[in-house]
Amino acid sequence: MNFLLPKSKRGELQPLPHLLLPPPIRAISHLNKLGIPNVHARCSICLTFDDGPDPIYTPKILEVLENHNAKATFFVLGEAVEQFPGLVYEILKAGHGIGNHTYSHSHPWMMSPLRAQQEVSKTNSIIKSVTGITPRWFRPPFGRLRAAMRRQAHLEGMRTVLWSRSVIDWGMLGNKAGIARRLETIEPGDIVLMHDGKREANNPEFTVECLPTFLQSLGEKALAACTLDEVF
Ligand SMILES: [Zn+2]
Repeated sequence: MNFLLPKSKRGELQPLPHLLLPPPIRAISHLNKLGIPNVHARCSICLTFDDGPDPIYTPKILEVLENHNAKATFFVLGEAVEQFPGLVYEILKAGHGIGNHTYSHSHPWMMSPLRAQQEVSKTNSIIKSVTGITPRWFRPPFGRLRAAMRRQAHLEGMRTVLWSRSVIDWGMLGNKAGIARRLETIEPGDIVLMHDGKREANNPEFTVECLPTFLQSLGEKALAACTLDEVF
């Protein structure tokens, strides 16, 4: 596919301007800035879980969400969907949403443009063949915006979604106390980044431990955790 504009008057090819792509969604409140009202006022917060499905932690997170009547969006990896298709059924059966998080979670900047496109399109094909659903949401690994990936996502009808709050459930900061403290700072309108996939330095075991208290507090404040599909 040629992403170059027609030749200009002077004859040189111009790269497709970045502005032709809609900006990534970072928060529910972002909608208002775009002039689009959030018609689903009931939905206060969007929880997102990346890097799964995971045979150990995805079922645990699904159980906690169900116990608190909370919905979330899972940004899945194509290779994990191939490995654990049954978990994707479980996610959807419970009323949660699915997004595309590329096939292999390789760093978006460390590959050719063609491979970057394939990481997106292959994952959509796998999700569609397993679930019959075409995802509406794309999130690049590490939140790194690579034009070739974003263009492919756009062409396949997806919006790129980042986050307004990360609980940082990975690495040295990703301990139980730190995750719990960051969860306390979440406010209405936030899109929250968390992980159900145990890969690289992720600590989903601590996220699972911290979630019940957080979801309990949402309930006490009459806030609802919803899927991206419910909000946008
Ligand atoms: Zn990720």
